Amino acid sequence: MTARYDVVIVGAGIAGLTAALYAARQGLNTLVVSSDLGGQLLLTNEIQNYPGFKSISGLDLIKRVEEQAKSYGAKIAFDTVTGVEERDGRFIVKTLMGGEIEAEALVLAFGKSPKELGVPGEEKLKGRGVSYCVICDAPLYRGRRVALVGWGYHNYENIMVLKKYASKIYWVFPGEKPLQDDSLLQEALKGGKVELVPRSQPAEVRGERKVEALVVRDKKTGEERVLEVDGVFVEIGYVTKTEFLKGFVELNDKGEIIVDQKCRTSRPGVFAAGDVTEMPYKQAVIAAGMGACAALSAYGYVMEKRGRRVAVVADWKHIETGEEEKEEKGTLFLKL
Ligand SMILES: Cc1cc2nc3c(=O)[nH]c(=O)nc-3n(C[C@H](O)[C@H](O)[C@H](O)COP(=O)(O)OP(=O)(O)OC[C@H]3O[C@@H](n4cnc5c(N)ncnc54)[C@H](O)[C@@H]3O)c2cc1C
Repeated sequence: MTARYDVVIVGAGIAGLTAALYAARQGLNTLVVSSDLGGQLLLTNEIQNYPGFKSISGLDLIKRVEEQAKSYGAKIAFDTVTGVEERDGRFIVKTLMGGEIEAEALVLAFGKSPKELGVPGEEKLKGRGVSYCVICDAPLYRGRRVALVGWGYHNYENIMVLKKYASKIYWVFPGEKPLQDDSLLQEALKGGKVELVPRSQPAEVRGERKVEALVVRDKKTGEERVLEVDGVFVEIGYVTKTEFLKGFVELNDKGEIIVDQKCRTSRPGVFAAGDVTEMPYKQAVIAAGMGACAALSAYGYVMEKRGRRVAVVADWKHIETGEEEKEEKGTLFLKL
């Protein structure tokens, strides 16, 4: 049987969870469908620019918002959305494991996903040694050999985490150096566990049921080298994976969802928030703010479909909805 909700939110990062908090607090029957809880914020141990907290870990922040959203009745289902369509004025969300879910309004808040290597063996061995999150999975590799593919300061931090667990770390990167700052590089190399593999490009992940090796190719000579490892960490950045939305809502040339100031997409009833949108400032507080905006717009949409008008109380003294709306009977005022 198809599950039915007033609003389905795709993604349980800070944008989706904030949308859930706002939607559920307005009394909408709200479901969040997400591949995981927390999204990118789980990758950082310390956030110093989220208002209200001088310092907080990503996990801590996410747990608080999750709890707050659930306290208003929002539900969370862990699944991956593979498609969306509109049928008879309602939205159908297709998922990998749980079939179809029906919604009156949609909030798309599925952020950015890790960039993949795109080499043979990677797809098959995802979750079987191929990981896209050092902070999440490093403890699984205690005493084992791993390769880290990536460069830059973020990967310096990843190396420092991996050194706590792995017995050997191959640091694979395309240039001459993985870091500009030599003192940080020396710090990363301390202890002798880390071997630099410069000018290299991954060519294949090998293994039958789990990762056994990473094959890298020298960018200058084309020579291949087989690194025998139990794990391959890929930390080469993030991309929006919105292919399944093509033709459904308007995207920009980077594949990001185009929204207006009310977080409305090009399709009525579909809203979007956070890093998955064209908003250039990819920051937690902005994603959260957009989540709130998308949920309030979704609420307005659902109510109007049900024949109720919604007025936003813009400040505490004046109701800035225009004279006609003020006089109209049955206008709902948003509880903010
Ligand atoms: C290492 C790192 C450090 C950072 N540090 C800071 C910082 O200090 N301060 C700051 O403000 N910002 C920071 N950011 C940026 C911040 O994390 C993001 O801007 C913010 O998390 C975006 O939130 P989001 O909810 O839009 O998307 P995401 O966090 O990307 O969440 C998206 C969610 O959608 C899910 N999802 C994806 N695809 C699907 C699908 N098809 N079906 C179902 N679910 C799906 C994902 O599993 C995830 O749960 C950092 C980012 C990184 C990577």
